[in-house]
Amino acid sequence: MFTADPHRYDGRMPYRRCGKSGLLLPEISLGCWHNFGHADDQHEARAILRRAFDRGITHFDLANNYGPPYGSAEENVGRYLAEDFACHRDELVISSKAGHDMWQGPYGEWGSRKHLFSSLDQSLRRLRLDYVDIFYSHRPDPDTPLEETMGALATAVQQGKALYAGLSKYPPKKLKRAVALLKDMGVRCLIYQPPYSILNRWPESKGIHDWLDEKGIGSIVFSPLAQGMLTGKYTDGIPEGSRAARAEGFLQTNQVEEQHQKLIALDGLAKEAGMPLHHLALRWVLAKRPVVSALIGARTVAQLDDSLAALQAPELDKALLARIDEISPA
Ligand code: NDP
Repeated sequence: MFTADPHRYDGRMPYRRCGKSGLLLPEISLGCWHNFGHADDQHEARAILRRAFDRGITHFDLANNYGPPYGSAEENVGRYLAEDFACHRDELVISSKAGHDMWQGPYGEWGSRKHLFSSLDQSLRRLRLDYVDIFYSHRPDPDTPLEETMGALATAVQQGKALYAGLSKYPPKKLKRAVALLKDMGVRCLIYQPPYSILNRWPESKGIHDWLDEKGIGSIVFSPLAQGMLTGKYTDGIPEGSRAARAEGFLQTNQVEEQHQKLIALDGLAKEAGMPLHHLALRWVLAKRPVVSALIGARTVAQLDDSLAALQAPELDKALLARIDEISPA
């Protein structure tokens, strides 16, 4: 039995408004891409969710195919939502997504109305929920007319299966058209979910962040620690048990090798600034507009606590931001 910490809203977790919407999101949100599948330690996974909630994290991010195997992260989180968080449903923002490879056959991925609706219904069953708070198109589909994908998102919102619509990884031109289509359908795009970290400044260099800011759409940035590379743990090789060392992990050893020089330089800079690299990395994304939340992952409760401690770290000053730009320009 889980009893939530009565002091969870005591001010340690700041909440930011998501663009020009009514929704507040915690500065740090928790993602369940890795570490929540059947292949992972479920005792720890459940403890991570409980600690996150106790520390003011009110937003858990999922997708149909998080696992492994596909669907198992939603199944496990669905069980914990029912057993631990049933009386806290209205304190939680739960998101899911459809669009990546999920099941066999022609309807198991991409952006058709058929895929989005079947997938959302499956996600709701696995999560044991009546609705998700945010439903995303997980990636753009080069072949399905954008009107169809946006129509499916808009209907999901109009039917109450999702409270808000979001877009993930859409490139600039498609993003702008998608947002306009949703608006024509009477649904505002609440949020955009891109990869963003000191090592991957794509939404900034493509002008997406400036445009979102102008439009009042929030950005929740995924992999702000670059899948763990920005924690200092890869400066001396690949540690055992880390994502890069695990067969089912999405971080490849060659990605770590490619970034090695930058990682060493950033680690040195963080030490000079008197903070660990992951605090520098999280404070950096949170210093950028229109970032509303840093969407982190954690394999253990200790990692989660370590990342949350970044909220107590000082904001980065101009000189430090400029040194980061020199090491890893936009
Ligand atoms: P991060 O960049 O935060 O990486 C998290 C990983 O870094 C952990 O699982 C752990 O990996 C390592 N780590 C974290 N904290 C520490 C620490 N203190 N010390 C050492 N290692 C640490 O984010 P993720 O890549 O996990 O992505 C976060 C979320 O973003 C996902 O769960 C998902 O919700 C979302 N996402 C969305 C995508 C999309 O297409 N829209 C794509 C990818 C992610 P380990 O210990 O195993 O090495």
